[in-house]
Amino acid sequence: LFAGPVDFLKGVVAMEGLPPADRPEICFAGRSNVGKSSLINALTGRKGLARASNTPGRTQEINFFTLGDSHYMVDLPGYGYAEAPVAVVAKWQRLLKAYLAGRQTLRRAFVLIDARHGVKAADEDILALLNSSAVPFQVVLTKADKVKGKDQDKVLAQVRGTLAKHPAAFPELVLSSAEKGDGIATLRSIIAGIG
Ligand code: GDP
Repeated sequence: LFAGPVDFLKGVVAMEGLPPADRPEICFAGRSNVGKSSLINALTGRKGLARASNTPGRTQEINFFTLGDSHYMVDLPGYGYAEAPVAVVAKWQRLLKAYLAGRQTLRRAFVLIDARHGVKAADEDILALLNSSAVPFQVVLTKADKVKGKDQDKVLAQVRGTLAKHPAAFPELVLSSAEKGDGIATLRSIIAGIG
């Protein structure tokens, strides 16, 4: 799949803790419950790999994984739940902003959006942040197996309308289903092509 080990590397709580910027890096972002862990597990062929990012204590960290020897993969904690104290959220926001604006090797962010719901307010925030940080991003629609036909067309149109406002967005959407395997090969080849 990926040449070399696919493994959890470390959870980072401050910029000083980032691993050496010695290879291209991609990150995944999305609202809690969007299907991010399921997608990462399907993508890497490693069941349970992304669970690390959902365990309490790791939800305010930038979680690094090795994708073989070629890339780092970053799993950003799911957003949209305000369960943490204000000061903790503020610290996390600062770290996230510093990371997105300052990480030279961050090549692309994949923003996961639920194919049933389209872009929500919390998604708009991360899209705006990626855009202002000049991080190229690509939207991956998750749980595509749950929507068909006209409903899917409506969501696609809504997402495309949103992306048109963001110069940092790739216009191509990836429709995925961790359940059925749709879009997984496409995502793997997109990532493999990121140098
Ligand atoms: P996370 O919080 O973003 O990491 O989301 P999870 O990967 O834990 O998934 C949240 C819920 O959505 C779980 O109940 C999954 O079984 C379900 N789910 C995830 N991906 C898919 C998918 O592709 N299709 C369907 N039908 N359900 C999915």
